Amino acid sequence: MTPPSKGIVYLVGAGPGDAGLLTVRGRELLEHCDVIATDALANAAIVVAARRANPTVEVFEVGKRGGSKHSLRQEDITALILRLGLEGKRVVRLKGGDPFVFGRGSEEVQALRAAGVAFEIVPGVTAGIAAPAYAGIPVTHRGLATSVTFVTGHEDPTKPETQTDWAALARAGGTIVLYMGVKNLLRISAALIAGGMSPDTSAAAVQWGTHTRQRTVTATISNLADAAAGAGLAAPVITVIGNVVSLRDEIAWYDRRPLFGKRIVVTRASAQASGLHSALEELGAEVLELPALRIEPLDQAALRATLEGIARYDWIIFTSQNAVSIVWEAMRAQGLDARALAGRRIACVGRTTSEALLAHGIAADVVPARFMAEGVLEALSARDDVRHAQVLYLAAEGAREVLPDGLRALDCRVDVVRIYRTEADGTGAVALRAALAADEVDAVTFASASAVRGYVDAVGPSLARRAPAVSIGPVTTVAVRDAGIALIGEAPEATIQRLAQAVVDALSMTDASAA
Ligand code: SAH
Repeated sequence: MTPPSKGIVYLVGAGPGDAGLLTVRGRELLEHCDVIATDALANAAIVVAARRANPTVEVFEVGKRGGSKHSLRQEDITALILRLGLEGKRVVRLKGGDPFVFGRGSEEVQALRAAGVAFEIVPGVTAGIAAPAYAGIPVTHRGLATSVTFVTGHEDPTKPETQTDWAALARAGGTIVLYMGVKNLLRISAALIAGGMSPDTSAAAVQWGTHTRQRTVTATISNLADAAAGAGLAAPVITVIGNVVSLRDEIAWYDRRPLFGKRIVVTRASAQASGLHSALEELGAEVLELPALRIEPLDQAALRATLEGIARYDWIIFTSQNAVSIVWEAMRAQGLDARALAGRRIACVGRTTSEALLAHGIAADVVPARFMAEGVLEALSARDDVRHAQVLYLAAEGAREVLPDGLRALDCRVDVVRIYRTEADGTGAVALRAALAADEVDAVTFASASAVRGYVDAVGPSLARRAPAVSIGPVTTVAVRDAGIALIGEAPEATIQRLAQAVVDALSMTDASAA
């Protein structure tokens, strides 16, 4: 037997928000640890990626978020990581920004040290430097600021117990970077001005810095509190005070990207989609991914009975590759194989479906040029062996009736057997539906006709029509139009880069026409 491994707690800085600002060491530990205990401020995408690489990892969300009901107290968080460390686990305690900058990381380490639990510190990119940088504000600049002070704005400066000498900061003349300070901004500005700072000193408040929803308000120190409140800025906000703020006009870059502030949906979880995801992000967009669909087979008894009588059908129609795999599994469970379908004619709704069938040794007789129910109907009506036929239609729950109705109009006898249901996976689907319902999606990208169908399945036909589409080419465009979705752009060539550029073109045109 191997002895239990010794526990260790890694205090890892997650960086300020942008998931790309996690350190290499931090990612390595996330991918190999047993447990992650994460803060509310650490970007959730970092944990999602860690889970993908490290599927057995256990995750505790221990965020303390402005007194929310579910948040743990600091003592409870410390107790949790101590317990896990003592149990021999390798624990990543993931903290927003840098663990030792206003993060209480050092208190957690003191407790680990006292209990004899091993630890390691992985510094992170702190919000106080990164949020200004993404707003185009360097915290030092030759000739403008020779020092920078990180200060917490958590303490009310009018209270006698305040530990910060605001007058001394006002006199120091360097850049002041304020964490946790939005609520006290008015009182802090007043204390700085009372301490001798010029009321005309430039200042900026950066909310959600380095996130795609970053917002920046600039003003002078005397009116920043009003301007920030007027713009509705609330935590998390970094406030920068000092002459360096004037450089923003010249240096701003992140919020000048062509898709900054836009929300774009990517509809396919595949290697191709991840290329599109990063291309759109580099253009500044916030990307929502269509969550993976879960396939739930329905009542197998009906399918079993159908398979027993399969010989009476002239035609079998498969609506998707899921239908193919469910039917194949059911056949195998009954000791059947491709020979059971000998003599039946077979139609598929699309090419992926026919390829799935071919993998089982069955070549479809009909694969329509238009990959949808109407296309199959067209192709079948053009044949002379369909009228009066016995047809088996294998479909998903909620599939449209276009095809069975159309076939009945051709005097066919159609048995519709619903063999599975698709369910969009939990939280991602909820977030996407909410964004669509609130009209917060600027465009949905489609890189294939099947992606259009997957999207309509996942969010439902009426929500699907709430946001306009950009398509990768003519075939996909037809599917978009058939789904009743407005089209605002089509890539001139079917590549991911051209698709991303088509999004930029389409949205800058809609902006121009709105202005
Ligand atoms: N350890 C963290 C700071 C934790 S204190 C770090 O090094 O960044 C929490 C405060 O950090 C927030 O109230 C806010 O002032 C600031 N903050 C953290 N992330 C931020 C972000 N993305 N944008 C703006 N401020 C942020």
